Amino acid sequence: MHFSQHFLPLPLFFFCEVFQSSIHLVMTLDMDNVEVFDTGVKGRGLRTTKDLCAGEVVLAEPSFAAVVFDSLSQQVCHSCFRRQANLHRCAQCKFAHYCDRTCQTACWDEHKQECGAIKKNGKAPNENVRLAARVLWRIQKDTGIVSDSQLTSVDQLEDHVADMPADNLKELKIDVHKYLDYCPNTRHGVEYISHIFGIINCNGFTLSDQRGQQAVGVGLFPNLCLVNHDCWPNCAVILNHGNQSALNATFHSKRRVELRALGKIAENEELTVGYVDFLNVSTDRQRALKHQYHFDCTCKSCSKNLKDDLMMAAKETEGNKPSDELVKEVQELSLECLAKVEAARTAGDFHEVVKLCRECLDKQEPVLADTHLYQLRMLSAASEVLSYLKFFSEAAEYSRRMVEGYMKLYHPNNAQLGMATMRAGVTHWHAGLIEVGHGMICKAYAILMITHGPNHSITKDLESMRMQTEMEQRIFKQNECVYHSMREAALQNKSMGMMAEAVSVEDNVKALFHKQ
Ligand SMILES: [Zn+2]
Ligand SMILES: [Zn+2]
Ligand SMILES: [Zn+2]
Repeated sequence: MHFSQHFLPLPLFFFCEVFQSSIHLVMTLDMDNVEVFDTGVKGRGLRTTKDLCAGEVVLAEPSFAAVVFDSLSQQVCHSCFRRQANLHRCAQCKFAHYCDRTCQTACWDEHKQECGAIKKNGKAPNENVRLAARVLWRIQKDTGIVSDSQLTSVDQLEDHVADMPADNLKELKIDVHKYLDYCPNTRHGVEYISHIFGIINCNGFTLSDQRGQQAVGVGLFPNLCLVNHDCWPNCAVILNHGNQSALNATFHSKRRVELRALGKIAENEELTVGYVDFLNVSTDRQRALKHQYHFDCTCKSCSKNLKDDLMMAAKETEGNKPSDELVKEVQELSLECLAKVEAARTAGDFHEVVKLCRECLDKQEPVLADTHLYQLRMLSAASEVLSYLKFFSEAAEYSRRMVEGYMKLYHPNNAQLGMATMRAGVTHWHAGLIEVGHGMICKAYAILMITHGPNHSITKDLESMRMQTEMEQRIFKQNECVYHSMREAALQNKSMGMMAEAVSVEDNVKALFHKQ
């Protein structure tokens, strides 16, 4: 088994690089807002013990264990999971890499036994085995210690080994043997070790780099696993990196996930998150949930097929609809074209991507509604690649249409909507469409204040973009000529990075938890 997905399934997990107050630090270990309860059909769940408002941190949890992916072991700090140049190598095992001594010291407890095992073996095993080993070492170490902040123990999580397809089961067995080679003195039996691998397989949570653009590792957060899925959830989960930069070590905080309320939540209400992206018709979401998480989604959106009609709608102009045959033909063509776009993008042939997108969008535009998923996926691919190629005007037009469609489908405080709006805002800004750009950046800022919180690095980025565009807008209104010449100069001076949605268009059902 290997974690083959190199891009983040949901572009919403960011590391926080800002100083957290000590009050916040105390709160992060607090589970006072929540309690475990029996939901009935769905098994255990989590509910609130008090009223909550939008943006409130419902719970925060440090990882029980986490590892950096094999492919990035030299580019990502094994302690804080930031992607950085010039990392320092652990002198003992020569495998682990860290930003500096602070990160290394913070992580030593987690790394100590691993360090010895890698040294003895001469090399590190794969990420799965490394994570399982860290989990098992920690279980051994923590035996008998009951922490107030722990609502469940790791080994009580579901492993779903019984539901595993034969191929996956075979790979799991291979990993168990690799683990036994790596830790020959383990106290645990094969069955228990398999159970832990099963738990990692269905509960592993993807960790991203500090920009949220790339998945860099995987970790286990047992309390978070108690939060059930709903396609229209009342909470979002983000990764907060914590802070290691304060001079006084008592103010240092570890990486952790935060569960944040998307709106008002009443006392005793069940807390939910979306395990898969809402932007799929209910049958596709249900299939993905069944396949990855082994349950049948009976949420309100699925049972009432809410918004499915919009996601597959034909375009209506003055009461006239295209024929069913035409809609079917364009839908089939769209699927073919999306596959071709993905292939061209993987091959790095971005001009081919643009050509394919333009041709397909021309055919979709008169037939499919502006909320049709195939059209939105095409718009997403087109705007991403065009802004990468610096064709900002055309990219801006597509990104605006995409965000308008998203707004009719997503929850108003959905993190993906916030991120897409931010990218669209930046694209408009680059295209010189300062007023629309500024408006979108403000809108994105309002969403991310709730989903990511004011201390998050991406929210901070948005805040400075908001101030910058506000200033530019003022100049624009005073003197358009001055604005345009300033903009030209700025564009020549700095190269702009890709504000891309780092997911493939084919990756329709994006999953919250990490899964091969
Ligand atoms: Zn670090
Ligand atoms: Zn080491
Ligand atoms: Zn559902």
